[in-house]
Amino acid sequence: MTGTVPLYLESTDTKISNIADYLVTECHRYCQINLKRMTMAESRVIPAITLSVSQERQLAYEGAYKLTVHDSGISLQAGTPAGLFYAVQTLLQLLSMASNSIDMVVLPNLEIVDRPRFSWRGMHLDVSRHFFPVEFIRKYINMLAFHKMNMFHWHLTDDQGWRIEIKRYPRLTEIGAWRKDDGNRYGGFYSQDEIRAIVTYAEERCVTIVPEIEMPGHASAALASYPEYSCTGGPFAVETRWGVFDDVYCPGNKATFTFLENILDEVAGLFPGRYIHIGGDECPKVRWQNHDLCQRLMKDSGLKTENDLQAYFISRLAGHIETLKKSPVGWDEILDGGAPATATIMAWRSMQKGVEAAEAGHDVVMTPMTYCYFDHYQGVADEPKAIGGFTPLQTVYSFEPIPAEFPSAMTSHIIGAQGNVWTEYMADSKHVEYMVFPRLCALSEILWSPRETRSWADFLERLKPHLLRLKARHINYRQLRI
Ligand SMILES: [Zn+2]
Repeated sequence: MTGTVPLYLESTDTKISNIADYLVTECHRYCQINLKRMTMAESRVIPAITLSVSQERQLAYEGAYKLTVHDSGISLQAGTPAGLFYAVQTLLQLLSMASNSIDMVVLPNLEIVDRPRFSWRGMHLDVSRHFFPVEFIRKYINMLAFHKMNMFHWHLTDDQGWRIEIKRYPRLTEIGAWRKDDGNRYGGFYSQDEIRAIVTYAEERCVTIVPEIEMPGHASAALASYPEYSCTGGPFAVETRWGVFDDVYCPGNKATFTFLENILDEVAGLFPGRYIHIGGDECPKVRWQNHDLCQRLMKDSGLKTENDLQAYFISRLAGHIETLKKSPVGWDEILDGGAPATATIMAWRSMQKGVEAAEAGHDVVMTPMTYCYFDHYQGVADEPKAIGGFTPLQTVYSFEPIPAEFPSAMTSHIIGAQGNVWTEYMADSKHVEYMVFPRLCALSEILWSPRETRSWADFLERLKPHLLRLKARHINYRQLRI
């Protein structure tokens, strides 16, 4: 292909038109190829790129596509807009490899029929421990899309900062978004207008955002803003240390539930995706043990232990999320004391927690820290300070979301997996990129490609040209070291 290449759309769907625009922009930016949108009525020029919706049975699966390179051009076909979007990503990869001269691109004739293995192909980002600007959130989502990942788990609240504007409770961001780091004011938050723009940006890239509002623990920033929803009444400060803290939301006070329900109402209105994550991890029970109102609620409701009280807390808020026509997600601690039947469980402590959740009938996203925690060290020497752990690229690539000897009748409960990025030791976006890439590349292959095709040696060979694509996108990836 040389000069300006025609791009035909055999569809009037707005989503597909957006995908075509995306292809034009990315082709120009990263492959030095100029595409020009043309209608079918205009005279055919060869070679051309054609995007079309197909009713073919093999393309009916969400995300499936067919990419054909033939003498008269390139054809991208899919049953859904997401499928066409992934066909575009594959084409961009092929073109960036083929483009060895500015004015000539040659691709061999080929046919690719492809589809994802898992429906939840996720990445998480903690914006509480450190805050990242809107521009970086967009870049992060774009890089997820480039790797055909489709879920962005946005960890918006924690002890060290509340990062989402809630109109009804302005102190959450006036107070809760800011902390004193070495005497300096540190923090920030996303306004609702910024969030709406990010949601649109993600939708255009077939990425669903899963917002997380942590409860009942990891609540210091919220309680610093509204101490009346704690057991002791405070006062509290937005935390400056990392860790797990004793002051958590008080379930003995009915008003706590009203407060959280009102917050969830606003969150549900901002994010059109199906899921809302309500945390549920690492909640100490010492305040509940020593609070009359909490103990009275336990007695009145027949709850024997504080774990039962946590289950009551999560069930109540999960029930509220369902009234909003959304599905609750929680960390695997919500299994303790019994999780609401409809909750999706994120297994982070171990694969076994995911197995238990699946056996109890829950949908499961596997995110075990031994494979999926990208805040861990990825090398043995000369690495920037990290929280701990050791999860190098090869370990990530060896991850298998379906445990060995898992009953095949239950595999449909494991809907996918996710990489988690806790940012205690990542003060800026360049550091996040260093920790995430290329581990994300390994995870994305696990989540997309058939298990049988996996080969570490082959992956390493393919990663080399892929790192050049990351470089072109100004990603501060970690260099491969031998
Ligand atoms: Zn209490």
